Amino acid sequence: MNQATPPSCVKCGCEYVDEASDMYVCPECSHEWPTKFIEKNDEEEQDYVIKDANGVVLNDGDTIAVIKDLKVKGSSAVVKVGVKIKNIRLVGGDHDIDCKIPGIGEMKLKSEFVKKV
Ligand SMILES: [Zn+2]
Repeated sequence: MNQATPPSCVKCGCEYVDEASDMYVCPECSHEWPTKFIEKNDEEEQDYVIKDANGVVLNDGDTIAVIKDLKVKGSSAVVKVGVKIKNIRLVGGDHDIDCKIPGIGEMKLKSEFVKKV
């Protein structure tokens, strides 16, 4: 994915820019800037897509099933494998699914431990 030639310095226009790890460094004016500026923007957009354990895209209102026993934080309850949860809400973050689990209540889950049904 390396570009053949680094771009000219964005500050002084010098054409002999060095590439150091993920930064470009200008030898003329010492200006530094990240090489992955544009790629990072792409990643941010993809953050809005949340996928289940099988890589299926999840949407608000979907029904999911748990694929692994999950301990409920702060209690001895466990969400068992195969439990179905209706009407999920995608919230993003580390635990990216907000939902109401039958017999347990509101809880946040990780999308990697569920599958769409
Ligand atoms: Zn420069």
